[in-house]
Amino acid sequence: MNIYESLGIRRIINADTTLTRLGGSLMPEPVLEAMNEAAKSFVDMFELQRQVGHRLAELTHNEAAYVCTGAAAGLFLASLACMTGADLKAIACLPSLAGLKDEIIIHCAHRIPYDPAVRLAGAKLVEVGNAIQTFSWEFEAAITERTAAVLYIAGEHLSFGVLSLPETIEIAHAHSLPVIVDAAAQLPPPENLWHFTRDLGADLAIFSGGKDLRGPQASGLMVGRADLIEACSENGTPHQRLGRAMKVGKEEMIGLLAAVEWYLQQDHTARMSNFEVIVQFWVDTFSDWPGVTARRDYPNEAGRPLPWALLEFDPTVTGLNAAEVQQQLWDGDPRIAVSLAGPYGIHLTPDTLEPGEAEIVTDRLKQIL
Ligand SMILES: *Cc1c(COP(=O)(O)O)cnc(C)c1O
Repeated sequence: MNIYESLGIRRIINADTTLTRLGGSLMPEPVLEAMNEAAKSFVDMFELQRQVGHRLAELTHNEAAYVCTGAAAGLFLASLACMTGADLKAIACLPSLAGLKDEIIIHCAHRIPYDPAVRLAGAKLVEVGNAIQTFSWEFEAAITERTAAVLYIAGEHLSFGVLSLPETIEIAHAHSLPVIVDAAAQLPPPENLWHFTRDLGADLAIFSGGKDLRGPQASGLMVGRADLIEACSENGTPHQRLGRAMKVGKEEMIGLLAAVEWYLQQDHTARMSNFEVIVQFWVDTFSDWPGVTARRDYPNEAGRPLPWALLEFDPTVTGLNAAEVQQQLWDGDPRIAVSLAGPYGIHLTPDTLEPGEAEIVTDRLKQIL
């Protein structure tokens, strides 16, 4: 009996995506080994954070880097960093932001469920534009003497109706404002680890350690300008300041470093071809099925350049609508997670599956249908 079974918890086959509520992603062996080794000695945590940061900055071609407990914690620290800088007197007054610039500008179409992390830092989100369009003069008009930063949520799926990142950076920099990019789920391609900052000029970019990087669940990577990374560090653990509530362990720091090393060594072209094979297998299997249409969809839920399969059902033929198919997959043995695609469809994702699991998903779906 494994640890989960002993607690009466069922294992899940994840054909949905790297969702925190499903456990995010699975760590590969080199990451597990590195964390195991890290767990065996005491170290100076200030020194460790600094050295891991140097190494991560080198690997990702950035000026500086910092390990936090996840991209949401990264949003919190980045917001603080843009408001307090590394000013210890300002940091000592937190959570009061009296006398500091405390507004962060965001496109209305970029409001996401993670932005409470910004408000947790005490910042006021100032929306520009609306859900379907934003003009550059609206952006300019939102900038005041209280503006501390601009937050941009990266991803093809959120690019509709907003200014492009380069346009946003141009306007922000003309007003000496830093741009924070939430790139939590914007991997692959691995080049995004330096694209937003080094190539496009954003001041900070934030990635989840526990999504495609397959590092520890409670880890996140911040990269960018050295002075802002320093300000994150001054606000963060192991200092006993506001960021102390989001403590990063030595295992997470070493685990994230190992994950970034591992990720940069992967053959991403081969990985992509493998995903295409799995998606094609699903499409071939289900396109002749009565009441089912199956096709390759692209890009995926986070706008990443990955294929996934879209299966749509005609309930008058299958007797089941999409939500019922999803529920039966969840209730069955093994438990399988897939995402809904509107009222008629489900999406099947290849990138969170372990070898052999695509076949199990297929067999279960055939039984259900
Ligand atoms: C997943 C995600 C987050 C949160 O990431 P964690 O590492 O789980 O904290 C923040 N922003 C976006 C856009 C995300 O997709």
